[in-house]
Amino acid sequence: MSIVHEVFESVKRRDPDQPEFHQAVWEVLESLEPVLAKHPHYADVVKRIVEPERLIHFRVPWVDDSGAMHVNRGFRIQFNGAIGPYKGGLRFHPSVNASILKFLAFEQVFKNSLTGLAMGGGKGGSDFDPKGKSDAEVMRFCQSFMMELWRHIGHNLDVPAGDIGVGGREIGYMFGMYRKLRNDHESGVLTGKGLDYGGSLIRPEATGYGCVYFAREMLATKGKSFDGATVAISGSGNVAQFAAEKVLDLGGKPVTMSDSSGWIHVPGGIDRAMLASIMDLKNNRRGRLSEMASMDGVTYTAAQPEPSLNGLWGVNVDVALPCATQNELNGEEAAMLVANQVIAVAEGANMPCTPEAVTAFQNAGVLFAPGKASNAGGVATSGLEMSQNSLRLSWTREEVDERLETIMVNIHKNAAAAAKEYGREGDYVFGANVAGFRKVADAMIAQGIV
Ligand code: NDP
Repeated sequence: MSIVHEVFESVKRRDPDQPEFHQAVWEVLESLEPVLAKHPHYADVVKRIVEPERLIHFRVPWVDDSGAMHVNRGFRIQFNGAIGPYKGGLRFHPSVNASILKFLAFEQVFKNSLTGLAMGGGKGGSDFDPKGKSDAEVMRFCQSFMMELWRHIGHNLDVPAGDIGVGGREIGYMFGMYRKLRNDHESGVLTGKGLDYGGSLIRPEATGYGCVYFAREMLATKGKSFDGATVAISGSGNVAQFAAEKVLDLGGKPVTMSDSSGWIHVPGGIDRAMLASIMDLKNNRRGRLSEMASMDGVTYTAAQPEPSLNGLWGVNVDVALPCATQNELNGEEAAMLVANQVIAVAEGANMPCTPEAVTAFQNAGVLFAPGKASNAGGVATSGLEMSQNSLRLSWTREEVDERLETIMVNIHKNAAAAAKEYGREGDYVFGANVAGFRKVADAMIAQGIV
């Protein structure tokens, strides 16, 4: 049995109930087979790299507005700190469990390495659902969460950020509690902060913008661009909103968005005014996309339970940007996009395409960007936020955007070059895995067996 199969079998044997983690591990290990054949000294690193350095699991009790007590689970996975402090978001969603957070933390290790910045990989969160909760309830939950997490994080140790269900409001409440407990204004301990207390311009935009920059680079390899292109976007949260904005900036036409209840199709294109009302609906009124159904030119379709296919992926588009959640686009849905001659797919979310979907795109010659490369702009800009915090300076919008764009162009270049080196030209999954792995693996070897 080859070393990667041996390692994968041991991962499955040790944690048989963690399918998302297995999926993420296999996707990386599969790419490493030719690397290990050429550089056998990486074998021991592969055995270590699939095991988190530390997994923290804690109780989060909180009281709702009616006085009733609830208990949620809190987690922080400190997966790999070889190249820098652990870095990765916090997710608040009822589906959160150890498998999902381990998959996200594992992905984060390679993603952060690809950015070229000194950041290790981590992830955390809770099975708390912020949907339908009052601001006061969210605040009490965040405070209780931080009452345990604070002792495990720090600006040189572990720097959490947002993810699904954790935006500026939640980061603010958590930062406030951290500051109180530490009795220290340690601004670099969390990223995604408000501009008034150490946040960076462009951080909210960064993941969506970065994803579109990466897709632009892929399209350019085929002499194509976003100008006049139709684009299917899923999700309507942080990543999806700013992906749509950058598509508009580059002359493209976003025609779909979604939430967990359904999706909208706007054949004439979501313009800036409509995008502004979607942002207001989601970020301020915290409503549902179904409320857009009555607008001119908008068709709303309610989500159907599986195994129904998501009709959003049946819309005829040039580019698809899945920006909602993991495994939201399966093999059959990929086949619909391929049948409509989609040119490029870039993952804004983490692992939104199932392995069958990725294979369908690659077999059809569709340009495909894995999230660890195409959504790395968010964490890269979090890294830029940490730099500004250390310098006690704030860079302008243009300055941060320019750095973000350069980082995305470099990630594209490095992933493409690693793929070419192994005769896998155009295979961004392979290229991103190999380029991300090498830096972390070399650092782990240099630091000895720890
Ligand atoms: P948000 O919470 O802002 O938005 C998530 C969006 O996805 C919402 O529209 C939500 O709909 C939808 N969604 C969530 N879960 C499901 C589900 N199970 N089925 C269908 N739709 C769902 O999160 P973000 O935009 O921050 O994150 C989206 C993805 O991008 C995630 O995979 C995240 O890990 C990834 N990512 C985020 C980064 C960031 O900087 N924020 C950085 C890199 C990756 P609803 O409101 O109905 O729940």
